[in-house]
Amino acid sequence: MTDTIFGKITRGEIPSDFLFEDDHCVVIRDINPQAPTHVLIIPRKPIPRLVDSDPDDQALLGHLLLVAGRVAEDLGVGDAFRLIINNGEGGGQTVFHLHLHILAGRDMTEGQLSADLN
Ligand code: 5GP
Repeated sequence: MTDTIFGKITRGEIPSDFLFEDDHCVVIRDINPQAPTHVLIIPRKPIPRLVDSDPDDQALLGHLLLVAGRVAEDLGVGDAFRLIINNGEGGGQTVFHLHLHILAGRDMTEGQLSADLN
């Protein structure tokens, strides 16, 4: 499996400010934010795409959602955020290590979902 920048970040090989971390995931700010609040929840396990996860990952995937909600609340955007997973090149994924985007701080009530991230 090819390593990615997120593998290096989760392993601490590239110094990063973690907004949150535990045994299963880390949370960092996106380097190229698409909204005033744009953070990434990255599992330590290097699953390339969501579709590459398997039933053994059920608890991990649930954990990532719980962390997303908690981090959104901690960042003060718990009432208005969007959670996105890009899957595959055609889905706008550029880093092939599963991650969740939290986007917040701008109007999320209009426009196409496809315009959010690419
Ligand atoms: P994707 O397009 O794969 O869903 O999202 C990848 C995201 O990772 C992009 O929003 C991009 O700006 C962000 N990103 C890529 N490289 C880095 C990096 O080295 N550090 C951080 N913090 N974000 C990165």
